Amino acid sequence: MVAGSSSLLRRREMAAATSGAGRCRLSKMGSGRRPPPARVRVAVRLRPFVDGTSGTSESPCVRGIDSCSLEIANWRNYQETLKYQFDAFYGEKSSQQDIYAGSVQPILRHLLEGQNASVLAYGPTGAGKTHTMLGSPELPGVIPRALVDLLQMTREEGAEGRPWALSVTMSYLEIYQEKVLDLLDPASGDLVIREDCRGNILIPGLTQKPITSFADFERHFLPASRNRTVGATRLNQRSSRSHAVLLVKVDQRERLAPFRQREGKLYLIDLAGSEDNRRTGNQGLRLKESGAINTSLFVLGKVVDALNQGLPRVPYRDSKLTRLLQDSLGGSAHSILIANIAPERRFYLDTVSALNFAARSKEVINRPFTNESLQLHVLAPVKLSQKELLGPSEVKQAQGSEEEEIRSPEPTVAPVSASQKLSPLQKLSSMDPAMLERLLSLDRLLGSHGTQGTPLLNTPKRERMVLIKTVEEKDLEIERLKMKQKELEAKVLAQEASDAKEKENCSLTMLRPLPRRTVTTAKPLKKAVVMPLQLIQEQAASPSAEIHILKKKGQKRKLESLDASETQEKAEDCWELQISPELLAHGRQKILDLLNEGSARDLRSLQRIGQKKAQLIVGWRELHGPFTQVEDLERVEGISGKQMESFLKANILGLAAGQRCGPS
Ligand code: ADP
Ligand code: MG
Repeated sequence: MVAGSSSLLRRREMAAATSGAGRCRLSKMGSGRRPPPARVRVAVRLRPFVDGTSGTSESPCVRGIDSCSLEIANWRNYQETLKYQFDAFYGEKSSQQDIYAGSVQPILRHLLEGQNASVLAYGPTGAGKTHTMLGSPELPGVIPRALVDLLQMTREEGAEGRPWALSVTMSYLEIYQEKVLDLLDPASGDLVIREDCRGNILIPGLTQKPITSFADFERHFLPASRNRTVGATRLNQRSSRSHAVLLVKVDQRERLAPFRQREGKLYLIDLAGSEDNRRTGNQGLRLKESGAINTSLFVLGKVVDALNQGLPRVPYRDSKLTRLLQDSLGGSAHSILIANIAPERRFYLDTVSALNFAARSKEVINRPFTNESLQLHVLAPVKLSQKELLGPSEVKQAQGSEEEEIRSPEPTVAPVSASQKLSPLQKLSSMDPAMLERLLSLDRLLGSHGTQGTPLLNTPKRERMVLIKTVEEKDLEIERLKMKQKELEAKVLAQEASDAKEKENCSLTMLRPLPRRTVTTAKPLKKAVVMPLQLIQEQAASPSAEIHILKKKGQKRKLESLDASETQEKAEDCWELQISPELLAHGRQKILDLLNEGSARDLRSLQRIGQKKAQLIVGWRELHGPFTQVEDLERVEGISGKQMESFLKANILGLAAGQRCGPS
């Protein structure tokens, strides 16, 4: 029983990791350890009876038991009640401050750690979502309270003399009938939600306004709120028919070397209610709206179920809402769901369904991590292009002083010495020249579209989109090249180690734990040709260029330098490989690196590792951290000791023999 539940938990964690946070790890710096899990927290708020929604002497169909639990009449048997337990329960007498201080305020600090957080208000229309999130001037809700606190915190943390400079921006959008609309720039039309190559969810073209005070926030937020799509139903005079999403980003830049950069995103979401069309009397357009809303919420339910069951596919892409929430459910955020419920009997069915959804949501496990990177000055245009949330309206404001906060690459950083400034560049010197060349050409490409290192902001929207796409493609290409480069380096190093050993002593000790391998079967297997990528390209261009061939005949090995055209003739028929302990250790290290850093796809390039095992390995790594030795593979559920041994043989020897003995 216990074992069963722990494996279910593990599957859930794996699904959570692979669905969101796991994919992002490549781009995340920091400890390098697997982030600890953080369960989605769920609070339920029961509103009081309100004017116009209740009969005068009606008794409630739901009531609180204590600060975490409540009960509701069982519709199957009125003698009984159904009991639910959550992280918090707020009764009808609870204040706006109670909810904010109890459930929302505690997660805000994570934003200053470069982590994401989200607050979602869920529940049937009329149950108090907007009241909880927005409130009124007299009873301000979560949004204004969080903004006041967050701005205060960033002012303190970013004050002169503190290590980090901080800036805050806001975006505000709604999802209406599966369209993403920018409430700060309503003319911009339906926006697309995209995922960059590092797994971050982005909305290219979405307006992003810098805010330094609550007055700034209100200046943008209040007119934007009036742009919200609202309609009247019989249930609620101002029933929101769309999902409203306020995104607040906290950017941090380290003032001194190593000039790290962090970004924390806070989503504050007032979800639309899922009306029962038969009750609301919706017809025509309203019915269509309800259908669309229900689709999004229905998919939200499916996402929660898939995460709970540890299913390999989580259907985030099936609706705009879930695509946007990919970061927040089973992803990288500290999340809190506030389920709003109403006491009136006519809400009964909606209340039960909201409570059931809330109960399922509290099983979802997120893995928040610090979103941190280095400020690469040389790649300033690339970095800016990834700040693609800047929209046209933002550019219009560019003259304003507040805009400088976003546009200047390093506005508040204290002066630094030239060597400090250059420090991030020095790393590039160790980069593969081909890769460096590609980066520089990308830099030139972006630079040619403007000046001062901010070309994208002066570029018309369509061109900007094209550039952004180019940048993402280049990013992918760079990743591919890096992998290729790693492979080639491994081969070259392995050969060098072997050659050096060979020179010293031709009859070095044989491989101990693994049996000596004699390659005698493949007749044409004659030569090992190892070249870096650039060399291969040069070779193709110049057939007479010299290459190095490692040969072995009998017990002797020597390194010859041959003209490419002679290689066929000088080939030997039979080889015998000897692997030195050094080479073996090197091979093991390479495999270990791959086990710890490779994606499931990379792992499949290893012998004896198929799709299933690759996923098991990635999952194990997510749960237990990096492998300390290749033998740890045995600890992966589904990989036996025997399989591990055969994996080692196939791969270590394969690295030394198979990959080095290419057909001539
Ligand atoms: P929803 O956004 O879920 O459709 P609203 O937030 O608009 O619901 O709430 C419906 C009505 O109930 C509004 O008039 C609101 O002021 C009132 N209301 C909701 N929650 C509370 C509460 N906790 N205390 C007092 N009034 C509330
Ligand atoms: Mg509302």
